[in-house]
Amino acid sequence: MTAGEPGAGPGAQSAGAPGEGAAANAADRAWLARAIDLSRNCPPSRTAFAVGAVIVAADGTVLATGYSRETSPHDHAEEVALAKLSPADARLSGATLYSSLEPCRYRASRPCPCAELIIAAGLRRVVIAWLEPPVFAAGGGAAMLRESGITVVEVPGLAAEARAVNAAVLGD
Ligand SMILES: [Zn+2]
Repeated sequence: MTAGEPGAGPGAQSAGAPGEGAAANAADRAWLARAIDLSRNCPPSRTAFAVGAVIVAADGTVLATGYSRETSPHDHAEEVALAKLSPADARLSGATLYSSLEPCRYRASRPCPCAELIIAAGLRRVVIAWLEPPVFAAGGGAAMLRESGITVVEVPGLAAEARAVNAAVLGD
């Protein structure tokens, strides 16, 4: 998929039902690949990563998508996706969030880091490709999610692809 195609948005063909536990299934890998595709849509930045996120219901329905700087220069992908949903949406409690990068635990630009937003939304599971490198802020989002009882699944096989989208900002 190239930037601008609607392939990961609501209404797109489902990649299937997310997995249940701490291991990634084939659908998890396909959804995470869509999150990475979304990260290619991010407006360029020298001070923040390009990240894509997809929230998928337990039955494989896309609930929302987001990417960094989608609506304003300080947007994070996960908060953009969560902001598209009602906090009262009953599907959130069974949903999985896919993010190309570990959700942030510390951020300067806005008061609430994405890990806190995900915990507040009551999501069940988070699948990520790449742990946040200590470039702009310390990591720790995955640990914070796990401490709150959320299943966090890393898919290292997709980390290089998620990182490659950020080659310019990383100086690679
Ligand atoms: Zn964030």
